[in-house]
Amino acid sequence: MPNHEGLPNGQKIEYPYMPDEATIEYTSMNNLFMQMAREYAQRYSLDKVMPNSSIIVRDGAIVGIGANGSDYHENNECERVKRGSKTGEDYELCEGCHPKNHSEQSAINDAREVGIQNLEGAELYLWGHWWCCEPCWNTMLDSGISKVHLLEGSEVLFNREDPNNVIGRQFE
Ligand SMILES: [Zn+2]
Ligand SMILES: [Zn+2]
Repeated sequence: MPNHEGLPNGQKIEYPYMPDEATIEYTSMNNLFMQMAREYAQRYSLDKVMPNSSIIVRDGAIVGIGANGSDYHENNECERVKRGSKTGEDYELCEGCHPKNHSEQSAINDAREVGIQNLEGAELYLWGHWWCCEPCWNTMLDSGISKVHLLEGSEVLFNREDPNNVIGRQFE
């Protein structure tokens, strides 16, 4: 049974994956961290289709930042496309789709590189996607992050299955 999160208007968003002990909050583009995540995705993401970025914040300070993607798909066919994998499945089977290249994990690695292992109480701002996959949530929860902020409307804007998405023109 998938988990749900409430929207202000009483609607529910059905995430492909969502752990019980975690929370998702929605924030507007007025939020400085969300603005920075968008800029960072535009500049550094290697994913041409779904560029996204994560910023980890603790006590008002940025402690980690990362963008998604790798250049694997430029020269190699995606294993998941080959296999017809479903949304959220088989990431581990493709070098280009591997969760280590997701922005959440890349931001956590960024924090680790400067010696921050324990991210207890930190929160993650994710721009450019509408849910977090199971390996990313596991890594976040293991490192102490249980709250993710998404952009308001992400479930439409960044959802391949929603006809009103902005995929392909995220930065217009
Ligand atoms: Zn792939
Ligand atoms: Zn992920």
